[in-house]
Amino acid sequence: MAQEDIFKKIVSHCKEYGFVFPSSDIYDGLGAVYDYGQNGVELKNNIKQYWWQSMVLLHENIVGIDSAIFMHPTIWKASGHVDAFNDPLIDNRDSKKRYRADVLIEDRIAAYEEKIEKEVAKARKRFGESFDEAQYRATSPRVLETQQKRDALHARYAEAMNAMNLEELGNIIRDEEIVCPISGTRNWTEVRQFNLMFKTEVGSTAEGASTIYLRPETAQGIFVNYLNVQKTGRMKVPFGIAQIGKAFRNEIVARQFIFRMREFEQMEMQFFVKPGTELEWFDRWKQTRLAWHQALGFGEENYRFHDHEKLAHYANAAADIEFRMPFGFKEVEGIHSRTNFDLSQHAKFSGRKIEYFDPETNESYTPYVIETSIGVDRMFLSVMCHSYEEERLENGETRTVLKLPAALAPTKLAVMPLVRKEGLPEKAREIVNDLKFHFNCKYDEKDSIGKRYRRQDAVGTPYCITVDHETMKDDCVTLRDRDTMQQQRVRISDLRALIEEKVSITSLLKKIN
Ligand code: ATP
Repeated sequence: MAQEDIFKKIVSHCKEYGFVFPSSDIYDGLGAVYDYGQNGVELKNNIKQYWWQSMVLLHENIVGIDSAIFMHPTIWKASGHVDAFNDPLIDNRDSKKRYRADVLIEDRIAAYEEKIEKEVAKARKRFGESFDEAQYRATSPRVLETQQKRDALHARYAEAMNAMNLEELGNIIRDEEIVCPISGTRNWTEVRQFNLMFKTEVGSTAEGASTIYLRPETAQGIFVNYLNVQKTGRMKVPFGIAQIGKAFRNEIVARQFIFRMREFEQMEMQFFVKPGTELEWFDRWKQTRLAWHQALGFGEENYRFHDHEKLAHYANAAADIEFRMPFGFKEVEGIHSRTNFDLSQHAKFSGRKIEYFDPETNESYTPYVIETSIGVDRMFLSVMCHSYEEERLENGETRTVLKLPAALAPTKLAVMPLVRKEGLPEKAREIVNDLKFHFNCKYDEKDSIGKRYRRQDAVGTPYCITVDHETMKDDCVTLRDRDTMQQQRVRISDLRALIEEKVSITSLLKKIN
């Protein structure tokens, strides 16, 4: 099946099984805004918990906060967002569709790369075992020609982005003969800047309302609380502050479901370090964060680092962790070395002294910052994309199964009486009532056992147990594993220990500690 079709199936599966709904669905939705349903919210909470605990529980020197979405408007002046949080946009006059100029060019670069990979794959098939890939890449005229085009475009694009040269971005789009995917024409407008922050007003106009912004990142809430937390928590550098919360960006192009939303959630951690040590910490956090992703068992080959060439105005090093989505490798998390830019700017704009006094050296300095910033929704999407499977069974049937990591699954255990009589439902409820304090259990008695299993497979429940007539005699149940579909008889009294260990977030945390 084409990757595009798989992605469409994942999107409809998310809706059909209560994971993600379009916002305002009965009013036909609202662009790039989504709601999480009964299963989605559980999965999302588990992702957040895994992140939060990996930061705050596993590190003595990281604490959390929860700052407000509304903040003093000067904060966004100081942070540079009012002047520089822009995307270059371009319109197609025929389709009236709006695009991000940088995305159009990046897609073209990706298309060149794809072309090279296709050539290599074709040659691999043609030459069989004797195929020397490195040599082919270095000598094939077709590969070399495409590579050269890709490199030239990339260099030109990087230069234009670094200088934010809008005219040049427009020229690139014209020279590359990029067409609008809707109208198929090259009837483009000029490239313009577009600020991504949402504005609103506080106070009534009579009192003199003032414009404030919905935060486009949670990080600034951490920076402006640096002094509060450092002093009240008696924190010693190096230390970190973690936060999970909503962020808002008026994205020009709403694309790829929950990959790019106008209202989304971030999990950010700012780690304050001594100047001069930041690049060492940057590397450490890159590895720590990659390990967090890989502990989920999605396969090392599905992740890669992408080092930024265009550094944001505040950064001296930056890398993304990219995950292989059905639509290619895409950024899920950013790790940035933000220097002392933010703290210094807030010191300047607020008139406060924002420093750290190092008791060992008797010196004061403005700490440098390493930031790790991950989108909950993008993480959610990567988990969904990797877990969704349509499996061909031996009997020729297909089952749709979400092979979610057990610790993230919305429901951990479904308890099913074989029939709705002879005391089996009561026995099943007894088990639920006992285990519900330890993990998320669901009671399910409707339809045949086969149908009930499929229903649980589709929402990723790792374990099901069936209560049958034997249970009434021997206090044992049949435990079914979602992935292998194997069944075993286990004692009811052993269930908790057996399942809890496998489904707890602790099991993930132990892998990365
Ligand atoms: P992009 O280049 O895709 O727009 P970004 O580099 O602007 O992303 P950051 O500002 O580094 O993103 O934000 C950190 C993380 O927040 C991203 O890695 C992503 O997971 C998430 N994120 C950013 N924008 C959105 C969005 N519009 N919808 C969902 N998640 C987002």
